[in-house]
Amino acid sequence: MTQVQDRRFVRDHLAGLQPRPDCSPDETESLKARVRELLAEKNAVMLAHYYTDPVLQALAEETGGCVADSLEMARFGAAHPAQTMVVAGVRFMGETASILSPEKTILMPDLEATCSLDLGCPEDEFAEFCDAHPDRTVVVYANTSAAVKARADWVVTSSCALDIVDELTANDEKIIWAPDKYLGSYIQKQTGADMLLWDSACIVHEEFKAKGVLDLKKVYPDAAVLVHPESPDAVVEVADVVGSTSQLIKAAASMSNKHYIVATDKAIFYKMQQLAGPDKVLLEAPTGGSGATCRSCAHCPWMALNSLQGVIDALEKGSGRVQVSDELRIEAAKPLQRMLDFTARMAAA
Ligand code: SF4
Repeated sequence: MTQVQDRRFVRDHLAGLQPRPDCSPDETESLKARVRELLAEKNAVMLAHYYTDPVLQALAEETGGCVADSLEMARFGAAHPAQTMVVAGVRFMGETASILSPEKTILMPDLEATCSLDLGCPEDEFAEFCDAHPDRTVVVYANTSAAVKARADWVVTSSCALDIVDELTANDEKIIWAPDKYLGSYIQKQTGADMLLWDSACIVHEEFKAKGVLDLKKVYPDAAVLVHPESPDAVVEVADVVGSTSQLIKAAASMSNKHYIVATDKAIFYKMQQLAGPDKVLLEAPTGGSGATCRSCAHCPWMALNSLQGVIDALEKGSGRVQVSDELRIEAAKPLQRMLDFTARMAAA
């Protein structure tokens, strides 16, 4: 595994964040009304990730946008006729929307919203790593900058990573994987692929603790444990279902258990509860216990930067506009398109 030894950049970035203050219920209603007006006036559509504030997710749905994982957000945005997209999520999602829809205006509520995986995979160091292993196919997770994607052969999301790596392995390809070491390790174990792993992690999923999950299971013995594979191996090992955000939501909807211990960002509960129904009980997997830092406490600090006021500022002033240079866009579009073509083939099979 290659090492990015100094994780101070993540701490420094977190220390510099300035989340907007909470609004009163009346203020929230008035901001929502303004967002509705602006979306209609600007012929814009709003895309919200499962980890954003449920108020934003509900508003995206209500106004004809989508609430989805990063792959579905990209697909939805590319197919939607609106010329302006507001992407409530983190920066790589805005960049992906811009790469796949270069003719459209892509706005984000807060351009400071990034991701520890993106921060943990600097373009220059990653290029050096790839250059040192020219015989390997470069597979990067969607949670990376446009520059890192431009260096890759494949982009994957957690919903299609296993299938793509499986196919590469069947073709005897050796792989460089970046940036999430836990997801990489999970895929390596599942597929037996020859993978060199970059060393970065999601600060939200890294915090879940297997012991905490098992302790909670003693209280709710019938609970199904749903785990995102960005979590450490020990947490994945105690899971009943391991999967992407969409796969975990589907699992909660289709399984018959009453209780679910969910090891991913708690904002997913909005969509999970909606689809699972009111009788199912969703429980947050614990992040406390020995070795806990609670840098995120199961909620992504960058996703939390997305706010109603940020959406209004983006639509009124054009702030938070995402721009990817033509040169980068053309290169980054190739591995992204490869992934979209692959998933379309899988869906058709
Ligand atoms: S939850 Fe983790 S992977 Fe997702 S955006 Fe936040 S830091 Fe990145």
